Amino acid sequence: MTMTGGPLLELSGIRAAYGGITVLHGLDLAVEAGQVVALLGPNGAGKTTALKVAAGVHPPSGGRLLLGGRDATGIRAGDLARAGVCLIPEGRGVFPNLTVRENLLMMTFTGRSREEIEESAYARFPVLGSRRAQHAGTLSGGEQQMLALARGLATDPAVLLLDELSMGLAPLVVGRLYELVAEIAEGGVAVLVVEQFAAAVLKIADHAAVLVGGRIQWQGHPDSSLHAELSSYYLGSST
Ligand code: ATP
Repeated sequence: MTMTGGPLLELSGIRAAYGGITVLHGLDLAVEAGQVVALLGPNGAGKTTALKVAAGVHPPSGGRLLLGGRDATGIRAGDLARAGVCLIPEGRGVFPNLTVRENLLMMTFTGRSREEIEESAYARFPVLGSRRAQHAGTLSGGEQQMLALARGLATDPAVLLLDELSMGLAPLVVGRLYELVAEIAEGGVAVLVVEQFAAAVLKIADHAAVLVGGRIQWQGHPDSSLHAELSSYYLGSST
């Protein structure tokens, strides 16, 4: 489902650097409400940096970040989070020594009630309901990723930024996770997904961009021609 009214999240001419070394050289990317956009690319291409800029975690050295068409460049991460931008970093971001329930209840800082947070998490991810008393560290990788998503969704985000959701997971599990991501987008969330390996996310993505060496090399509908071209982009990169 794609809503009209322009992109919810837009990166326009974004440049970013670490200590004087530029790693994004003018990135243009837009995500509409209800859309899944996949940002693909090899190791070190700048994908995580792009998400950090979108979340306000890393300040861009050039270009603009727009939220709902408004300039949000330079707004701090906490304020962007309150405005509805949710980053789920690589490595899942759950607390392994806390139970599933405790991980969820920490999200009451958002102002939502415990009941509301638990009910919506277990409705969307029933397996979390059956494991609510289990320590998060003892869940499977896919379940931990579901818990990370449930924690993110408790903030009721307008923009969801996902970094390497598939990391370390079996293809079947990744496929299921991306079906869930597609459902989240159908609810009107703008989803930007970063992945090094593309197959699963391309099944649900409305749009894809390939980043190599901090520059978009290809951008468009993820049709079969992209699959063929991806390998050449990856093989052609020096990282
Ligand atoms: P990966 O999949 O390896 O995370 P990526 O496409 O997400 O790759 P980034 O993590 O954004 O790429 O990194 C882009 C470039 O910036 C790389 O060359 C990386 O070494 C460099 N870089 C990333 N983080 C830092 C940092 N905190 N300090 C210095 N350089 C960094």
